[in-house]
Amino acid sequence: MDKRTFLKRSALLGVGGAIAGSLPGSLKAAGLTSAGRPAGESYKLPELDYAFDALEPYIDAMTMEIHHDRHHAGYTKNFNAAVLEAGLSDTGIKEIFRQVSKYPAAIRNNGGGYWNHKMYWKCMSPNGGGEPAGDLQKALEKSFGSFENFREQMSKTAATQFGSGWAWLVSTADGLVVTSTPNQDNPLMDVAGVQGFPLLCIDVWEHAYYLKHQNMRTDYIEAFWHVVNWDYVSGKYAKAMK
Ligand code: MN
Repeated sequence: MDKRTFLKRSALLGVGGAIAGSLPGSLKAAGLTSAGRPAGESYKLPELDYAFDALEPYIDAMTMEIHHDRHHAGYTKNFNAAVLEAGLSDTGIKEIFRQVSKYPAAIRNNGGGYWNHKMYWKCMSPNGGGEPAGDLQKALEKSFGSFENFREQMSKTAATQFGSGWAWLVSTADGLVVTSTPNQDNPLMDVAGVQGFPLLCIDVWEHAYYLKHQNMRTDYIEAFWHVVNWDYVSGKYAKAMK
């Protein structure tokens, strides 16, 4: 039998060592993690809060469908397998990210892919666009001088991230900061250049825009601002300030 089948069977039999070692006997016997989910299914692909075509004309329906149903689904499936193999079924994802440099690349790449996309969908809304208000607006003005300066800096950071990656607005001890990460890294990871609490993200992998915009990443970034969900970002900022 292959390694994954072996691991799955081991977990089901309760002989998975680190995988199932600390679980109560009844959960172990049922092949469940402590969260009560079947081993290897710790993380679920989230449903979108809106239809695939809801962000048209800014983000096209086919891009959304492929991005969610294939790319995000793939990261989720592979992360579950990696978590099971590494014996991390009972470790929270933020705890994993805090020391991700210790773990196999499959944990870093697929964990980031799973978590980042989950946040990315929330960062967009059919009712999005415009400018933020309230405390977030004040904080952006304090850290960047003005909302326009912030948006320009975030757009530039997204446009100039070399190759695949993400642009982020992050809450740090020094205020709000714009940064980027390569591949599927994120600011919760110990490997990130700027670490902090992510408030907003833009996926700049080609799969996020190539069908509609081909090589014109800047057109996609301009389109993104029309659907950005400031209510969600404000909620994240409020959490960061707690
Ligand atoms: Mn993506």
